[in-house]
Amino acid sequence: MLDCAIIGGGPAGLTAGLYTTRGGLENVVMYEKGMPGGQITQSSEIENYPGVTGEISGMDLMIPWPQQCQKFGLKHEMVAILRVSKDGDTFNIHKDDGSITQAHSVIVCTGSSPRRAGFKGEDALFGKGVSTCATCDGFFYKGKEVVVIGGGDTALEEALYLAKICSKVYLVHRRDTFRSAPNTVARVKRTQNIELVLNSSPEEVYGDEMGVTGILIKNNNGEVRDIKVPGVFTFVGNDVNNQTLKQEDGTFLCEMNKQGEVIVDISMQTSVKGLFSAGDMRIAAPKQVVSAAGDGAVAALKAISYVDELLNH
Ligand code: FAD
Ligand code: NAP
Repeated sequence: MLDCAIIGGGPAGLTAGLYTTRGGLENVVMYEKGMPGGQITQSSEIENYPGVTGEISGMDLMIPWPQQCQKFGLKHEMVAILRVSKDGDTFNIHKDDGSITQAHSVIVCTGSSPRRAGFKGEDALFGKGVSTCATCDGFFYKGKEVVVIGGGDTALEEALYLAKICSKVYLVHRRDTFRSAPNTVARVKRTQNIELVLNSSPEEVYGDEMGVTGILIKNNNGEVRDIKVPGVFTFVGNDVNNQTLKQEDGTFLCEMNKQGEVIVDISMQTSVKGLFSAGDMRIAAPKQVVSAAGDGAVAALKAISYVDELLNH
């Protein structure tokens, strides 16, 4: 029986792991299906994590986090969790290897995943020129032209990153204003090799056996432009990874909003006692590394009090 099971090893899960173990919980396991670090490891540059100055990639930022947690006794199991259920005061953690582990408390921090934009050819050419990760794939297009789709922080920041590697970046956005931070928009506008293709949406990406060769972009007047590029990067938002909270009967273990974000109070407590949620998957998440980490710390401190109350009072 674990004192606490942490599901997900991004900034929220790792910080929850640090605070639960350092705060005295004896038996804590963090279940992370891949390498710890979370989605920020896909980012080429992070400049808003407090106290970290100079250029740093998401990967470099996250490397010390698991090492710090392990020092205080956090165990990491590399396994995907299928479902979390509750029976009386006991949580059951259903793993994809078929085994079940029990826990007194659970902190779910499974974050979010990049969304597909939904244009023709996107799925067929995914991984063959269509990508959602500039850090992973940008280098393949060194000195070449690429298209970036989206108008949020991710699209603009990754367009800036790609502009340093590629000869030209076409930034395609369906409106003429951006969601991204004003400072980032200003940087994009003064970058000479970024061309803004506004009020326009992708129609179809096409290619041959070698991969993408171009993309058709339609503007709001119905005019179609054929942009011949070998790489198309889509950054059109994320879906909440809430599947572990789905029960066998299709309902969710705790309350969610319409977008599938977990409803929590200011202590990251969900509608179910002993179940906490932290980071990008909770309601009104600022979707930042620093806030995900803060959430993880808050959830951990509350989980420690909950377990103490459950076992000792
Ligand atoms: P995540 O980082 O998404 O971590 C969730 C973890 O859970 C993942 O590691 C996943 O593998 C794991 N997981 C999911 N399901 C399961 C399962 N069933 N079983 C086991 N494990 C599971 N924020 C900033 O503050 N500054 C930036 O400059 C910045 N740049 C960004 C650039 C990009 C390209 C992206 C995509 C995001 C950026 N963000 C930035 C946002 C930031 O990355 C997120 O807000 C933050 O990572 C959220 O942390 P999290 O722990 O909630 O979730
Ligand atoms: P986002 O803010 O949701 O932006 C998604 C963009 O894609 C929007 O511009 C949207 O257009 C467009 N879009 C959505 N569906 C589309 C489709 N089917 N076809 C074409 N375009 C489509 O997502 P994000 O940029 O990934 O950011 C997610 C969160 O992480 C945000 O809260 C963001 O602030 C945060 N983040 C922060 C930083 C940072 O602080 N430095 C960096 C990255 C991410 P519309 O605008 O018209 O809806």
